[in-house]
Amino acid sequence: SGRLAGKHCFVTAAGQGIGRATALAYAAEGATVVATDRDAEKLAGLEAKGITTQALDVLDDKAVVACITAHGPFDVVFNCAGFVHQNDVLSCTDEEWDFAFALNVRAQWKVIRAALPGMLSRGGGSIVNMASAAGSVKGVANRFVYGTTKAAVVGMTKSVAADYVAKGIRCNCVCPGTVDTPSLGERISANAAAAGGEAAARAAFVGRQAMGRLATAEEIAALVVYLSAPESAFVTAQAVVIDGGWTN
Ligand code: NAD
Repeated sequence: SGRLAGKHCFVTAAGQGIGRATALAYAAEGATVVATDRDAEKLAGLEAKGITTQALDVLDDKAVVACITAHGPFDVVFNCAGFVHQNDVLSCTDEEWDFAFALNVRAQWKVIRAALPGMLSRGGGSIVNMASAAGSVKGVANRFVYGTTKAAVVGMTKSVAADYVAKGIRCNCVCPGTVDTPSLGERISANAAAAGGEAAARAAFVGRQAMGRLATAEEIAALVVYLSAPESAFVTAQAVVIDGGWTN
């Protein structure tokens, strides 16, 4: 039983943060789940919840195909892996640009390309890509290459949705505001010196939120479950904002 009963789900970057919360939420809704992460140690604890875990670096094209071939076919794919560079148009390096596009955009394409034939063989499926409120929804200071890549995710999502809508495939993306995850902690630490300490840096992130608080990973996972499940059958090609009113 559950909203995802009988569904076979694939998650990238499931070791921590939104990916982990979503893998757990999928399992709680009755799905069979394959949770992957570059860092296998971070997947600890998921097997105890009945989730299959597999080390996977989504930058490794061959490993992506091998993993999806071995564990598929899937009904649901959640492309969660991504990295947040803090830079602007002048400070962004070539390496940051190339890495951000490889991880935040190209790897999602590679995962979709590997999973789509199996999805079509099952008669349809739902793909959910991780975008961000930073990007096509809102320009955010010091998120130059990040926002650029996340806007590209929205374009890729709509393109996939357009090509496969008549074949039972839905493709949506989620656009969160700031979410309290381990990597946010790292960004707070990186900003601490300039902001006048760790607490002040955290307060700056919280201060830009209309609700006066950050999102939890579980709140984002709830939206991803909705977009993955049959109840959202009429929803495709959308960039769904979940930001506590940040972009209002
Ligand atoms: P996080 O950044 O704390 O964790 C990321 C996970 O990704 C880690 O477990 C890491 O091992 C894994 N990972 C990194 N590189 C990988 C690779 N090459 N292959 C496979 N796994 C890899 O998690 P988070 O903050 O929940 O972010 C997840 C996604 O959500 C990202 O795409 C991020 O851009 C997006 N997002 C986050 C926020 C936020 O405020 N945290 C807001 C909007 C969007």
